[in-house]
Amino acid sequence: MTVKNPRFIISAVRPEQYPETDMLEIAFAGRSNAGKSSLINALTGRKRLAYSGSTQGMTRQINFYNIDDELMFVDLPGYGFAAVSKDQKSLWGKVIEQYLNVRPQLYMIILLLDIRRDPSEDDKVMYRWIRESGLCHAVVLTKCDKLSRMKVNERIKSIAASLGPEQGGNIFPVSALNRTGIEELWTFIDGAMAE
Ligand code: GDP
Repeated sequence: MTVKNPRFIISAVRPEQYPETDMLEIAFAGRSNAGKSSLINALTGRKRLAYSGSTQGMTRQINFYNIDDELMFVDLPGYGFAAVSKDQKSLWGKVIEQYLNVRPQLYMIILLLDIRRDPSEDDKVMYRWIRESGLCHAVVLTKCDKLSRMKVNERIKSIAASLGPEQGGNIFPVSALNRTGIEELWTFIDGAMAE
């Protein structure tokens, strides 16, 4: 899909703040710094549709983006930011959990993992939830420009193994920097939305 008119709609915390639409939604989940904003920008061909300042790790809002009136991208708060208190962490967990549990138009979840890191406990919990939800999903390994092709293949295998034996493909190495894998990811999204 070539995106023509992506628009930021709203930052929401509570369900009553979510936009009222019946478009299907694709949620992006991952720890802070995994590359969510960069991926959303790469998928929409915009430099600053989604942006993260140095305080990005502190945001616990859910950002909604209207993609050409066809679907919504939903940027979930990044989890696992070290410099926050336990209370704040559980609040974030709640914000994410609430969205995942109450949003009927949620159609697909994309889990982002930095290709250079082993999945954290939070990543694994998130992945397990996604699997069990039965929703359409993909795992995107970000920042693959930082590794050689051989190393990328090694990391795909090792991350798949650490996510568990039930991990059934749909792993996309991408780079927001040089756009590796972005078309492939769109092809997957388009195919899944057409079903
Ligand atoms: P977020 O917190 O998940 O939204 O992550 P960001 O998109 O803000 O990215 C976190 C950091 O990783 C930033 O410094 C980005 O420039 C960098 N980054 C994100 N994607 C890529 C990528 O594909 N390649 C490289 N080399 N750096 C990336």
